Amino acid sequence: MARYREAVCRLCRREGVELYLKGDRCFTDKCAIKRRGYPPGQHGQRRPKHSDYGVQLREKQKAKRIYGILEKQFRNYFEKADRMKGKTGDNLLILLERRLDSVVYKLGFTQTRRESRQVVRHGHFLVNGRKVNIPSFLVKAGDVVELREKSRKIPSVNEALDAVVRKGIPAWLELDRGSFRGAVKSIPGRSDIQEPIQEQLIVELYSK
Ligand code: SF4
Repeated sequence: MARYREAVCRLCRREGVELYLKGDRCFTDKCAIKRRGYPPGQHGQRRPKHSDYGVQLREKQKAKRIYGILEKQFRNYFEKADRMKGKTGDNLLILLERRLDSVVYKLGFTQTRRESRQVVRHGHFLVNGRKVNIPSFLVKAGDVVELREKSRKIPSVNEALDAVVRKGIPAWLELDRGSFRGAVKSIPGRSDIQEPIQEQLIVELYSK
């Protein structure tokens, strides 16, 4: 399965916003965008051009980077969202949010979606009692996502769970910290998704 393997801080610098791809480090002075708040590369410090196309393209790239998805798969999500009832932009974000790796991250089992993707790939999670190791698996209302018993001593998972108990989780999810189990109370609505994405720009880009 293809995925981005380069330095992730470059992605934030390219988009000009914190995408929070490195967990706790993102909240320290070591954050690359705080130190060098301009795009990477030889021409990074030049004044950027802002054509309509450029703005739409950057928004799409930002969304892909937040969710850790490459172009082809992202395009497939868009086409699926377009076939669904309702607003395409809302549907797109809701589909992305329903991915198992995103749910594992939002439940607080990991500090980043990247880590979530890895722990899911390594088969540490059950959905409704059955092992699921596909990060793109889409959860539905009523699903129960659970860390396997033999994986419950992973230090990074316990640290992340302790942190999320303090920070809180989205209203459409529910976490039982003691049993390492999370429940999907409902499918998220657009207002439940706090990621800084203007989905309308992505719809405009793909509708050209
Ligand atoms: Fe982005 Fe986090 Fe790196 Fe800062 S530390 S540039 S927010 S990934």
